[in-house]
Amino acid sequence: MAIEDDVVVIGGGIAGMATALSAAREGVRVRLLSHKESTLRHASGLVDVLGYADGLVSDPFDALSALPEEHPYRTVGEEGIRDGLALLDTVTDYAGGHTDRNALVPTFGGRVKPTARYPETSANGLASDERDTLLVGFETVVDFDAPLAADRLSADVPFDARGVTVAFPGDFRTDARITRLAHALDENERIEREQSGISTSLPARTALAELVEPHLGDAERVGFPAILGEDRPADVISTLEAELGVDVFEVPMGPPSLPGMRLETAFHDALQDEGVRTTSGNPVVDFEGDDEIEAVVVERNGAEIPFYGDQFVLATGGLVGKGIESTRESVYEPIFDCHIAAPEDRYDWSDPAAFGDHAFARFGVATDDELRVLDAAGEPAFDNLRAAGGVLGGYDFAAEKSGSGVSLSTGVVAGRIAGEQVNVNP
Ligand SMILES: Cc1cc2nc3c(=O)[nH]c(=O)nc-3n(C[C@H](O)[C@H](O)[C@H](O)COP(=O)(O)OP(=O)(O)OC[C@H]3O[C@@H](n4cnc5c(N)ncnc54)[C@H](O)[C@@H]3O)c2cc1C
Repeated sequence: MAIEDDVVVIGGGIAGMATALSAAREGVRVRLLSHKESTLRHASGLVDVLGYADGLVSDPFDALSALPEEHPYRTVGEEGIRDGLALLDTVTDYAGGHTDRNALVPTFGGRVKPTARYPETSANGLASDERDTLLVGFETVVDFDAPLAADRLSADVPFDARGVTVAFPGDFRTDARITRLAHALDENERIEREQSGISTSLPARTALAELVEPHLGDAERVGFPAILGEDRPADVISTLEAELGVDVFEVPMGPPSLPGMRLETAFHDALQDEGVRTTSGNPVVDFEGDDEIEAVVVERNGAEIPFYGDQFVLATGGLVGKGIESTRESVYEPIFDCHIAAPEDRYDWSDPAAFGDHAFARFGVATDDELRVLDAAGEPAFDNLRAAGGVLGGYDFAAEKSGSGVSLSTGVVAGRIAGEQVNVNP
């Protein structure tokens, strides 16, 4: 029997998940097709809207009109961005929604990052908060050098920051995954220890607080790398706060990112609640149709399985997510062969300076103002194909710090229009 849905979304990243939720909330049947894990596991878990545009941005909404015409934010407008953040707020309990201004969140490298929404677990760490800070690193979590991060941070912020490195309590292997350490804190596992020749055991959170307490000094808050539990970070933090008598926060980390995974889990729960059908683990490789797409084709163990739909949304990510591919000669979109504008001379794809203005960072599909994908002549390539997130061109998410903001806003708008189209022509 043919598999048929109203809206078919391709891509399981934050853009695809936002699209699917938005379409499902229009009351239509939605299918999400995803090949691999999204980039959320590599991302910080922060939700940036616009951090830089000709310098540091304090209010992203004030900076929108200065963005180039082809930027996706010019398509979805302020309303689309606010709708994207509103959708996020239905999925998570992220902080930052009380103001339009960016928050400055300390990073594991000891810098501060402008961001629009951040997990509650990072709320006590904001750079605008002037309380003296102790950063605690672990010997085996080598990406976070707490003394170095504190030194760097002190140069940029209006408070004193100190750093200390301790051994994570317990007898964990030196190459233990951070998810293993997080699990020990989630479960508050009992940690064995020797004291005066006698073996005792105590809960992991208490053991950690005991290790940190002698280093507290005048610090009024303590920051740890973001490994304070995978499932129950709020519980872990409140126990540590009770034991230490000061506020505790997490510093967002690089991959594997527990805040990114928690955000992904929250989206998965919301998708399930909305009745979105998810099919993952295999790639979409082709499509059926002509001016209109009738089905996309998933390859599974050598078999080709069509997924029929009325409306389709491409949310396969950019060069990192494999939504866009390149050879030495060309850059292309592998499923629908959507047009992607790129300079003919490959030398013009990048700037010689590492942090220069790289054309490749803005490669992606162009759309009309309903997010329909355009062909080389600027006409909709298909009547029923829209795009959202990293696969869109016209912006450099890494330089601007706009990754999740573009994904949420274009996802919410593409999903809503796709759902409305189904309802208009049932
Ligand atoms: C290292 C890193 C750090 C980041 N840090 C931040 C940050 O701090 N703040 C922030 O706001 N944003 C950050 N981002 C950006 C953000 O995480 C997303 O990458 C961005 O918003 C794009 O999301 P997306 O859903 O469009 O694409 P992706 O997250 O790339 O997801 C694409 C999805 O499409 C699937 N897919 C691809 N091809 C196919 C196919 N043929 N068939 C089926 N499925 C397919 C992939 O498997 C994946 O599930 C970061 C990104 C990276 C890579």
